[in-house]
Amino acid sequence: MKILVVSTSARTGLPQPSAELIAAGRQLVSGKEGTVAVAVLGQDVAQACRDAVAFGADQVYSVENSLLVAHDTDAHLQAVDAVVREVAPEVVLLVGDALGTEVAVRLAHRLKTGAVAYCSSIRSLEGDRLAFTRPIYGGKAIAEMTVEGTPQIAAVTARSFEPLPRDDARTGEITSLAVSIGSDGQRTKVLETIQEEVTGVRLEDAKTVVSGGRGLGDGANFRMLEELAAVMGAAVGASRAAVDAGWASPAMQVGQTGKQVAPELYIAVGISGATQHIAGMGRAKHVVVINKDPEAPFFRLAELGVTADYKKVVPLLIEQLKVQMSR
Ligand SMILES: Cc1cc2nc3c(=O)[nH]c(=O)nc-3n(C[C@H](O)[C@H](O)[C@H](O)COP(=O)(O)OP(=O)(O)OC[C@H]3O[C@@H](n4cnc5c(N)ncnc54)[C@H](O)[C@@H]3O)c2cc1C
Repeated sequence: MKILVVSTSARTGLPQPSAELIAAGRQLVSGKEGTVAVAVLGQDVAQACRDAVAFGADQVYSVENSLLVAHDTDAHLQAVDAVVREVAPEVVLLVGDALGTEVAVRLAHRLKTGAVAYCSSIRSLEGDRLAFTRPIYGGKAIAEMTVEGTPQIAAVTARSFEPLPRDDARTGEITSLAVSIGSDGQRTKVLETIQEEVTGVRLEDAKTVVSGGRGLGDGANFRMLEELAAVMGAAVGASRAAVDAGWASPAMQVGQTGKQVAPELYIAVGISGATQHIAGMGRAKHVVVINKDPEAPFFRLAELGVTADYKKVVPLLIEQLKVQMSR
């Protein structure tokens, strides 16, 4: 079985979600005859190609083009299509961000096969066939799906797999692949890219996340969470209700339609625990919930729950943590 992992935005090295997909590929070929190939798309991708080998790729195809730097779905689709036709994999795994998901479903249409978006786990069936799981009904249920055609395509949600430990002693073949990206296939044009401003720890990479919800009552109250996060070296997240209210930026939203996080510790403040929110943080190792409603569904997930008004609890927590840190 040949598995092709597609990695984009690889200028500064292989992005972690791509390393996760290589690990997924290795799991799927383990104990079978099979290889894991990686297509690294972008510009100046030499480091990312070496990283791909170190994280478990057998073969790497470097695909460089200036159109593969921005979020240009048409350009990426043409490039991935060309690589898939060259490599002829049985399985194509893309990172389930906006770009990867857009490319996955359009690629499936082109190749007359199927794609599973928002995939969160994969298991082997008979032969080369796979079963993919994904949340359905807004995260209220999990469906297991198979793809009838070949290649079987999936856009996999970040943090669904753990990357393998980096091994710089691994060897793998790195081949440069020239693909032509024709202007006739370019139906959209990227006019401008605005980089999201990140101050402090990036939400997706944070070991501790403090998230606030509608229960905070006001956007200004997010400052209290920012203070708590600063003391703990944490990133601040938010529920969709808080984002919709304009209290937090959309980049801070955790959940099904927001960011996927998998921190060691997730502290939820004034968040009820809707399934769509849990869909973004369910992989957190330890969960602490502060909510004044003892019936809040989030308590079911909490290792430690505090039933109280957060305005009383959070300042005490900040004070205590400052004392502990100064020791
Ligand atoms: C298709 C779809 C996608 C969605 N995607 C997402 C997503 O990605 N992320 C997401 O978060 N949501 C998402 N949602 C929305 C989700 O269903 C919930 O509506 C949302 O998560 C609720 O946010 P909340 O918990 O902050 O607000 P609420 O449900 O209103 O909960 C507020 C909580 O604060 C508590 N509270 C109030 N005052 C205090 C106080 N003083 N101290 C302590 N606790 C207090 C209350 O008891 C309550 O439990 C999605 C919905 C749909 C339909």
